[in-house]
Amino acid sequence: MIRFQNVEKWYGPYHALNSVSGEVKEGQVVVICGPSGSGKSTLIRTVNRLEPIQKGSIQINGQDIDGKSVDVNRLRSRIGFVFQQFNLFPHLSVLDNIVLAPVHVLKQNRTDARARARQLLAKVGLEHKADAYPIQLSGGQQQRVAIARALALDPPVMLFDEPTSALDPEMVGEVLQVMKGLAKDGMTMICVTHEMGFAREVADRVWFMDAGSLLEESDPAEFFVKPQNPRAQKFVSDIRAA
Ligand code: ADP
Ligand code: MG
Repeated sequence: MIRFQNVEKWYGPYHALNSVSGEVKEGQVVVICGPSGSGKSTLIRTVNRLEPIQKGSIQINGQDIDGKSVDVNRLRSRIGFVFQQFNLFPHLSVLDNIVLAPVHVLKQNRTDARARARQLLAKVGLEHKADAYPIQLSGGQQQRVAIARALALDPPVMLFDEPTSALDPEMVGEVLQVMKGLAKDGMTMICVTHEMGFAREVADRVWFMDAGSLLEESDPAEFFVKPQNPRAQKFVSDIRAA
């Protein structure tokens, strides 16, 4: 469904992605891990063109995302993106945060969009918070609203960039639970996360990155027990020691 082919990215002179190739199949959950600064955020941000690439190609369902006919706004509306920072609109209720994009981007009728938003809120366990404002919610609740908001555009793919890293520890579980539910429903997902329990339990594939290269791509059971690449071995043993 998503294919990276020899993707190269530079920030000025800095080589941030070094010939990255990989494939995410429909319905798969790929967890990207690796040390800080290894290029994980850069790689997932290339998928919806938040970061342009200089060489190589990225295809979604066979279509090159840099193709001349690709409308970047449409592309982004087809990819759900959840960041570390939830960035809900503070002056809008939870429900209005969720209906904003379906009404303005997809031109959905407001009544339908609100009904759908309520369903999504139920899915993330926050039906009772529809009329609350973001400031009245905990960080974990805000992140669950952000996930519902991303789902409101019915994207075939969801990208997560360290969705639990800004949360107090007691709120991590509720967000991972929602992500597990999505995975179970068959959503295609790329997740950058340090939650290795999630990776072990939910990922179909684990990608290990270091210094801009995708060094290992394996089954989670294999990756955590017997990583092949020496840098992946060090990464896994450091996690065990932590
Ligand atoms: P990760 O998400 O794995 O921690 P990033 O993809 O954020 O890594 O960053 C990879 C490298 O690219 C880092 O060395 C970072 O400093 C650099 N980098 C990221 N964004 C920019 C930018 N906008 N300009 C210059 N360098 C950047
Ligand atoms: Mg990052």
